[in-house]
This record gives sequence, structure tokens and C-alpha cells, in this order.
Amino acid sequence: MTSVTATAYAAPAPKAPLERTTIERRDLREHDVLIDIAYAGICHSDIHQAREEWGRGSFPMVPGHEIAGVVSEVGPGVTKYAVGDRVGVGCFVDSCRECEQCQAGLEQYCQVGGMTGTYNDTDRQGEKTYGGYSTHIVVDENYVLRIPEGLSLDVAAPLLCAGITLYSPLAHWNAGPGKKVAILGVGGLGHMGIRIAHAMGAEVTALSQSLRKKEDALRLGADHYYATSDPETFSALAGSFDLIVNTVSAVLDLDAYLSLLKVDGSMVVVGAPENASSLNLFSLIGARRSLSGSSIGGIRETQEMLDFCAEHGFGAEIEVINADRINEAYERVMASDVRYRFVIDIASLRD
Ligand SMILES: [Zn+2]
Ligand SMILES: [Zn+2]
Repeated sequence: MTSVTATAYAAPAPKAPLERTTIERRDLREHDVLIDIAYAGICHSDIHQAREEWGRGSFPMVPGHEIAGVVSEVGPGVTKYAVGDRVGVGCFVDSCRECEQCQAGLEQYCQVGGMTGTYNDTDRQGEKTYGGYSTHIVVDENYVLRIPEGLSLDVAAPLLCAGITLYSPLAHWNAGPGKKVAILGVGGLGHMGIRIAHAMGAEVTALSQSLRKKEDALRLGADHYYATSDPETFSALAGSFDLIVNTVSAVLDLDAYLSLLKVDGSMVVVGAPENASSLNLFSLIGARRSLSGSSIGGIRETQEMLDFCAEHGFGAEIEVINADRINEAYERVMASDVRYRFVIDIASLRD
């Protein structure tokens, strides 16, 4: 086949509003699948990258790494997927496949050149990558996920970044029955953390700035809810948690939050602030606590997460928008005015 011209939404320059354009998707190689994208989630990191808040970007930029759609064509060597399959693509579309991390299914931590980002990156053939705010994408079958029956594509899309970003640390640090887990921040990431930790059987506490999201958090599966703007919260919860997953992408008083951990407790950071953070190391030493970070998940674990969510009957909480509202959605994400993830209906790019 010849390459596909996809309609897309792109940022033409850093901080510029996104606009409708077209991009070319490559000819299918041996193991490629062509995906007709149905939905693409808007992740906070799309905005960081389109605005160059995390360093230099490559423009024009088509963001989007929470992609759900249907396979419409397959390369001659493809064995994992067939035309008509419901599939997803997350934050990366390739890696070296040979290093220790890739071999272990931890492609997100690939040691040889790093993972190839779904957008704002250059792939291993030297081509620019463009993300999911587009009608089509071509991806190697080994970096494609299967979306289980019973999960609709719109609520599945945000699982490919927000879902796995929370699932991976919760699984790694053994959230489950008998564990007290706090999810710090009730947003796109945090709301998935509450659902997943609850489904894993942990006792879940939601920590958010105000009481505004209390009802939602309890409905999503939190057992307890506290406002972090209330200083009482820190005395009431001192030494309480086995695990805190910090989803806040702003600089916080880490010492205050570390004080909420039990002896041997861990705080895992998944939100990435623009500026450096500091802490007093006594916050760790005094109770053998750990401070760690975690980045998305590998392909195998991402599939496990999708299957887990389908089994437990949930996806993300979403607000579906047409593509012409992407710029407005960005403003609302910045103002924390979304419950809890915007998802672009890619059909609106097809008229
Ligand atoms: Zn993301
Ligand atoms: Zn590798």
C-alpha cells in the first residue's frame, strides 16, 4: 500500500495554539499495523511538551499518547493483530529490544537510546514521530496493546498513560489487602490511582487540596478523603501509610508528606514538576522510608493493566470533546477544570 495521509491537530510552534493539518504516515513495514484512531486522551504532558516546559520540542508537534482505535491494515509479517481488532498505543512506539530492561519487559526504561516516544521524538529509522491527535497511526505490532472486550474505546484511551502510570507503582509496591495506600492528587492520574488501588484491595485514602472532589473520590473507591490545605490532616495521618503515590506535578513540601508514611513506607513520585524539589533527609532516615519514582509501564504490564481494568469493569472518567476544542481543553486542564480526562473524538477530524 501507499502511505496514508492523516488529518491531525498540531502545534506549529512552541506555545502556539494547535491547528488542523495533515501528516503522512509511513508505508507499512513487515511488522506494522495501521490503526484508525477512534479516541485520543489529552495528557498533562501533552501540554508540557507543546509548550516546551520540559525542554526543547520538535515542531510541528502532534501530541497524543493515549490512543485507542481499530486495526485497518496489517503488514505481511504481523501475527499478533488482525484487521478489525480493537487496540491501543501508549507513550512509546519502539525501544532497542535487546538491553536488559527491554528483555525484562521494562521497555520504558530502555538503556540504549531510551524508549521511542509516540510523539515529539525521532524513531530508530530517523523519522519524526507524531502522536494520536490524528486519524491514523502506524505502529510496530510489538508496541501495540489489545483493548479487551467490555472496555469501550473512549474510556480505555486514558488507561494507556494515566492508567499504567498508576498501575505500575501500585503493583510494584504491592498495593493490596492489608495495605494503606494514599493517592496524592485527584486528577487525571489520581482518579485512576483510586480506582486501581481500590480494585487491588488496598485501603485507599485520597489526598487533595480542598474538599471539592470528596464525593467523586469516594464514588471512585476511596475509603477516606482528606484536604491537604487543612494542617490538621498532617497530624491526623502522621505515620499512617505503607505507600503514597504522588501524582501532583507541582513542587510540594515533601517532608510533610513523607511524615505520613509508616516505618518502611514508600512515597512514589509519578507527577513531574518543572522545577527541582528539596527535602530533609531526616524524613527518610528517621523511619527507614523510601522516596522513589516510576514511569508508565512496559508493554506486558500495560496489557496486564488493560485486562485488570476490563475485569473490574472500569476505564477512566472522561469528558469527550471534538478536535476543534483541544485548545480550550488545554486551558481547562491547566485550571484543573476537568473530571477527569479529556478525550478527543477523532471522528470529528474525519469530516
Ligand atoms: Zn501521558
Ligand atoms: Zn532497550
